[in-house]
Amino acid sequence: MTRADIMKIIEEKNIHFFRLQFVDIFGFMKNVAIPRSQIEKALDGKMMFDGSSIDGFVRINESDMYLKPDYDTFVVLPWRNKEGIAAARVICDVYMSDGVTPFFGCPRVNLRRVLAEARELGFTMNVGTECEFFLFEFDEDGQPTTVSQDIAGYFSLDPEDKANDCRREIIEVLEKMGFEIEASHHEVAEGQHEINFKYADALTCADNTITFKWVVKTIAAKYGLHATFMPKPIFGINGSGMHTNQSLFNLEGTNAFYDEKDKLQLSEVAYHYIAGLMKNARGFTAITNPLVNSYKRLVPGYEAPVYSSWSASNRSAMIRIPASRGMSTRAELRSPDPSTNPYLALAMMLNAGLDGIKNKLAPPPPVNKDIYEMTRAEMVEEGITVLPGSLEEAINELKQSPIARETLGPHIFEKYVEAKQKEWDEYRCAVSAWELDNYLRVY
Ligand code: GLN
Ligand code: MG
Ligand code: MG
Ligand code: MG
Repeated sequence: MTRADIMKIIEEKNIHFFRLQFVDIFGFMKNVAIPRSQIEKALDGKMMFDGSSIDGFVRINESDMYLKPDYDTFVVLPWRNKEGIAAARVICDVYMSDGVTPFFGCPRVNLRRVLAEARELGFTMNVGTECEFFLFEFDEDGQPTTVSQDIAGYFSLDPEDKANDCRREIIEVLEKMGFEIEASHHEVAEGQHEINFKYADALTCADNTITFKWVVKTIAAKYGLHATFMPKPIFGINGSGMHTNQSLFNLEGTNAFYDEKDKLQLSEVAYHYIAGLMKNARGFTAITNPLVNSYKRLVPGYEAPVYSSWSASNRSAMIRIPASRGMSTRAELRSPDPSTNPYLALAMMLNAGLDGIKNKLAPPPPVNKDIYEMTRAEMVEEGITVLPGSLEEAINELKQSPIARETLGPHIFEKYVEAKQKEWDEYRCAVSAWELDNYLRVY
């Protein structure tokens, strides 16, 4: 996509509203909306915004920053067409106030850096994320509840299932935006859904993942439903994961994980990569599972991993190797959840894997039995470690991880740790419903 291509579409589709999008370090999508008159200026990367108003960005005295659009992310917003007047968006990299220095507090800029380093080693990364989410009802005051259509449906006289229609429209909108949808299904839990879109290079996948979450929430709201990517909204049923299918490709375009001669048809590179993911898993969990609530998902019994292990068959493992081979050979990391910032998460996974490759690490043997049946001693023997059990533990691991520090860069690392420590502290001090239920009467 070139500047001229974009201008042509803007004319043809009568685009009057233009959104410049970028993400903060927590993965929240930010928008600067501009009218038609400013579009050319924006396409030339001359739009400024106040970086000090974004959490984790910069201080007041250095706050003028530039948004440099990535033309390939330009897309018309199918749901914003009102009486022939349309809207579009483009995703941007954030630049410093000199207009030429990329800002390393921008997660997208940071992912580009990590991808460039991988390229030096001869690899590109392909990724497919599987974002699960819940569709919930709003209450009379417009507040989101944890009541789903599936449950509400029993009482409702409404002959149509809002959730089904909503899921269909989400898919239609995504397709209009150029997504290739591969599958969509109702997940295990009531009210839980999953829509899979085609894998792409890591940067595009991160862009697609934030766009996906935005579209899901936007279309759900049209149907009077609240879509949430919170990892564990309801105790006692499955939470929402973001399984991340990843592979390295050689620069000439072949899959570097595939080796037809190996017993599992996996290459040395694949084994090293798996070993790197396993070695660094405790260190990167604060990124892939960033919320207090993330750790309520990583518990036994709900198809989410608790231990770091890998397997070619076992779905209780943290890393599964799906059956397809050849160009589709990949590792599926099952621990991340959809509240993660995908730009940071993919950078972390990539560098964790590259750590394995650079140091020629060998993974422990695959675990094909049920880990929950094993004793601690057996686990130690098999090289299985336990993922952090709380955000606090995860932050402490992150702080000690040299790979995390290097992957995030000093700016993001510092701001992220500071914010997450504060989040943990607030949670630690809060008195929860569980405590009142269990203690108020008894003590
Ligand atoms: N919801 C499960 C999780 O938390 C995954 C279920 C599945 O996709 N098989 O990861
Ligand atoms: Mg899936
Ligand atoms: Mg699933
Ligand atoms: Mg999966």
